[in-house]
Parts: sequence; C-alpha cells; structure tokens
Amino acid sequence: MTDPLFAPVELSPPDIAPHRRGNTGIDHVTSLSAAEPGPHVVLNALVHGNELCGAIALDALLRMGLRPTRGRLTFVFANTAAYATFDRQNPYASRYLDEDFNRLWSPEHLDGRRDSVELRRARVLRPVYESADLLLDLHSMTADTAPLTLCGRTTRGRDLALGLGYPAWVVADGGHAGGKRLIDYGSFAEPEGSHTAILVECGQHWRTETATVALESCLRLLLGLEMIDPPLNGPRLRPRADPQRVVEVTDAVTASSERFRFTAPFVGMEVIGRAGTVIGWDDGRAILTPYDDCVLIMPARRVKAGQTAVRLGRIVG
Ligand SMILES: [Zn+2]
Repeated sequence: MTDPLFAPVELSPPDIAPHRRGNTGIDHVTSLSAAEPGPHVVLNALVHGNELCGAIALDALLRMGLRPTRGRLTFVFANTAAYATFDRQNPYASRYLDEDFNRLWSPEHLDGRRDSVELRRARVLRPVYESADLLLDLHSMTADTAPLTLCGRTTRGRDLALGLGYPAWVVADGGHAGGKRLIDYGSFAEPEGSHTAILVECGQHWRTETATVALESCLRLLLGLEMIDPPLNGPRLRPRADPQRVVEVTDAVTASSERFRFTAPFVGMEVIGRAGTVIGWDDGRAILTPYDDCVLIMPARRVKAGQTAVRLGRIVG
C-alpha cells in the first residue's frame, strides 16, 4: 500500500478566478435557471480547500456551458480562502484556515458571536444552501479508499444515493461529534423533509480518477433528474460498476488522546470478520469491533483527541 501521506499530487488546482464574480452577488457562486420549473440543485465544491476534485468538476461544467433545461442549477466554490493557499509541496495544509467549514452547520455556530474565516463564508453561503432542494457536496479522502456516498440518516438521502447507482458504497451515518456537517444542516436532516443532501467522497485527494468520479457524480445526478441534456462533447459516463452496498454507521470512535493508534494501516471499507477484533489502541484502551462483518469507514490518518478516529458500520443491503 502506498502511504497516503506521500500520495503523489496528480491533479492540478484549476484557476477558479473566472468564476469569482458569478451572477448572484456572492463570490464564487453561479446560479442558472431554466424557464421550465424544476428543483433547485446545488453542486458544492471546496468545503475543504485541499480537495481539488469538486473544483475541477465544477470548473469543467461551467466551462462546458452546461445549462439546466428545467429548474435551477447553482455552482458553489465554498472555502475559496483556504483553496487559495493550496500548495502542492504541502497539500494537506489548505484544508481550512481557521476551522473546519464542515463542522459549523448548526444555529449555535451560525447565529453565534464567534468569528472565523470559515464562519464568515458559511454565513454568506447559508441562504444558498437553505434554498437547495438537492445538494451534492463533493469531497475527497486522505486514504486511498474506494469512492463512497455519505447519505445521512434520511430515507430520501439513501434513495438519492441509490438512484445515482454510483459509487458502489453508500454509507448512512449521522456525522461527527466535533460539529454538524453541511449535509446534516437544518431541513436536510429532518426525517420527514423535502430537502435532500448527499456527500460523495470521490477517492484519494489528488488522484486523477477522483476528479473523474466528481464530474461523473454531477452528471449522473443532473441526468437522473432530467435537468440537462446529455453533453454531446462532454465526458462519457462509464457503465454502472458493482452493485451498490449500503452500510449503516453504528458507532463513531472518538479519540480520547493523542496516542490513538490503529493496529494496521487501514484505508477504509475493510470488512472485519469477527466481533471483538482489536483495531486500535487509545491510550492503552483497546478499540474492539462490536459485531461480525464490521466495516471500517474512513479511518483518520492523523488522529487528534476529541476527533473521530474511525466509524464502524454494518452492511444492511
Ligand atoms: Zn472533505
């Protein structure tokens, strides 16, 4: 296994300056409406400033001149301040500037008095996300894990992920102890709501393939909703791959110390056969799998106290 901390940076950050002015009055937000009514879909990139795949996909779609044939389609480059600091010699550093943009999505933070670069941007973008019927949030991962969709806990999130038919893994989860993610914000997470958000982890941060997965996820969503005509000269969608598997997250292992260590270099989506297998040590405390065929979801490579080290899931379909 290649150590993901030394994964080569195959992708190049696109120049998003041409998209800065947009047409909404908010920097780096472009919104296109069709005459025909339909849903408002938000394609969201750069929640994390070092995750290039979403920026590449949105830049390609905007340059392609993609327009909705119904409804409204909005392109958001979220944490552009962090992205502006991306340095391929130190590519992890630009994940955020002050704090993780994807842990701020509760009234406590958004309406609170605290200030940070990310909070300022979140407050500006909040009405855009609140007006979305469907949000596709494009991310990537540190480890060389197979692409997966995080669909939250709602049935409609799961249905949307399965409707896309891709990527193969669909993970139903409730987020992190460290703060709410955008896909868990407000009406996206209400059990009986009509607003739906999913997050696609498109692959390892800087692999060429990861940007292809991001672009393909956008196109599949919009084609599935009959909001675009198939792009004539655009990328060809590959045939649907493996049947999808749904994993329900049952536990989040939050590290209680800086001394958290895994027992093996897990990359994620490993299926651990036997209940009671030791997968890590947290300051002398053994971390055990709670049931047979336990799936390890996105183990963190650098675990800090109070942060999610790994989530555990059960295959349900
Ligand atoms: Zn991310």
